[in-house]
Amino acid sequence: MSSNKFIVPPPRIVNREVVKPLLCGPGPCDYWPSVAEALSKPVLTPICDEFFSVLDEIRAGLQYVFQTRSKLVLAMSGSGHSGMEAVISNLVGRGETLLIASRGIWDQRANIIANRYGIKVETISIPMNVTFSAEQLEPELKRLRPTAMFITHGDSSTGTLQNLQGLGDLCHNSLRFSFRRYGALLLVDTVVTLGAVPFFMDEWGVDGVYTSTQKAFSGPAGITPVAFSARAEEKIKTRKHDPPFYFDIKLLASQWNCYGSTRTYHHTMSPPLFWALRCCLQEIAKETLPASWARHEATTARFHKRLREYSFEFLVPKPEDRLATVTTVVLPKGYDYMEFVKTMRARHNILIFAGLGPTVGKALRIGLMGVNSTIQVADAVAEAMADTLRALKKSSL
Ligand SMILES: *Cc1c(COP(=O)(O)O)cnc(C)c1O
Repeated sequence: MSSNKFIVPPPRIVNREVVKPLLCGPGPCDYWPSVAEALSKPVLTPICDEFFSVLDEIRAGLQYVFQTRSKLVLAMSGSGHSGMEAVISNLVGRGETLLIASRGIWDQRANIIANRYGIKVETISIPMNVTFSAEQLEPELKRLRPTAMFITHGDSSTGTLQNLQGLGDLCHNSLRFSFRRYGALLLVDTVVTLGAVPFFMDEWGVDGVYTSTQKAFSGPAGITPVAFSARAEEKIKTRKHDPPFYFDIKLLASQWNCYGSTRTYHHTMSPPLFWALRCCLQEIAKETLPASWARHEATTARFHKRLREYSFEFLVPKPEDRLATVTTVVLPKGYDYMEFVKTMRARHNILIFAGLGPTVGKALRIGLMGVNSTIQVADAVAEAMADTLRALKKSSL
């Protein structure tokens, strides 16, 4: 018998009933029914043909959703932040400059990450409820000659959608006469937009991009698609710095066989998560991107119409700046945002979120995306919000 004493007794972990709410926050979103099934598919060894073909199918699906012919397309083991960290740390080295176009919390996160790698961060900021124009960004690119510019496509903290068209050319050409052949790289966060809102990686000249599975893909968090352009590849090949081992795209490209006949073990990927991602991509491929984009647009148009009928106000003044997946709503004076969220859950079992970062105490955030982007859900959420507003008014009288 061992004489070692147990200083920690076994904990009592009891099962509790969990009532599933309708997930209408800015993420996570409900799963496609097929994804719930995919999560329980068999676990495979990473060195077998079935596993390899799943990886190949995921990469083909990602080339479709990102709209890129690039071979350097794969998924990180981690949530959306792992994509952010991988894109920044692989493409920008210590002492190099990253220009961050800032209007919400995600670019603040990019700033924190970049600082940890000794990257020189410069920011250009605008109010949180508007978006950037090319005219605002061009002088900064010329002045700073950054290695890369970071911008968020859809900002789920503020509910804005950034127009990206033309920004690739701006980044690449504004440094045409400098020593760098690839100009400045354009890095984009599409965590809450990909699959739901038009995005064309190659056509728009995006160089490093990441998304997520738990938002418009309607899958589980924990695996994050990333893609790199030919310019980004050149930077990765010629860079003088080493990114963290776990995020090193050179090593991951080899594990994912991006260039053919390399199946090098790097780390153990999670089989349930890659089955789930494969299934999300299958759903998007079946529906097709244009149909998915149209569905999200129609759902949100209906939701906004219903919100206007109930006299709710939008945080984002210009309709063209509003994000199709996440809507930000300003409550009348005297209402408490946290109380509103709690009452929605208690009375309707619908989960929406209060503000985050710049919108704390300033807005509600309602997500209608993926499997929940339907007219029925839009109506149900708008009606529940109107009811919640009435209920809170009555109780405060
Ligand atoms: C949710 C979100 C993230 C963070 O993703 P995690 O999966 O929570 O790490 C990043 N960017 C945007 C735009 C998001 O909406």
